[in-house]
Amino acid sequence: MIRLFRRAKPVPVLPEEELARRLADDDYACACCGVKLRAGSGVIYPDAPFGWKNPPKPAPDALYDEGGSEILTENYARRDGDNLLRAYLPIPIRGTEQSVFIGVWCSLKVGNHARFRASQVRGDADKLGEMFSWLYSQLPRLTGPLLTAGTVVPYSGGRMPLYWITDKRHPFRAAQHDGMTASEILELYEQFGRGDMVQHLKT
Ligand SMILES: [Zn+2]
Repeated sequence: MIRLFRRAKPVPVLPEEELARRLADDDYACACCGVKLRAGSGVIYPDAPFGWKNPPKPAPDALYDEGGSEILTENYARRDGDNLLRAYLPIPIRGTEQSVFIGVWCSLKVGNHARFRASQVRGDADKLGEMFSWLYSQLPRLTGPLLTAGTVVPYSGGRMPLYWITDKRHPFRAAQHDGMTASEILELYEQFGRGDMVQHLKT
């Protein structure tokens, strides 16, 4: 017998807790393809600071001082008189003890930038303490003003520093303070053009 009104199978909706678990677990492997998604820190990692179209392939960090007025290395950049570095902007996953980390570019004053690079090599950058910094990455939809004020927090062992927005007008300041739900974080990933990641995570 032909079933005339067969409906499409409803797509199962994952509970928030399961989405949060998959976001936070770096060992979580996609159910469809088995790839480890690293959805907590590997999703958004901009090639270059804001406004740098067609950036060159990054040089090793050790060549930064030899770069002249413009250079892009793996973790640093100098351009238009700005001294820039990579950092992770953490956003707590609401309802969990964990965070996701958005890769960003940000600035330091030239002296702080030099001190930071030297101490990253030694592995004692945590001794520098927090430093004032401008954000040089645009965050979609919740974008707020470009050149947002914030703080770079360095860590020991050469780990990536964290970036905390201090500008009260920037919507991400609230997100960093209060967290976002797992679903909101996945929406954010889609706005960053990472719908591919979101599909795998929801499968
Ligand atoms: Zn997959």
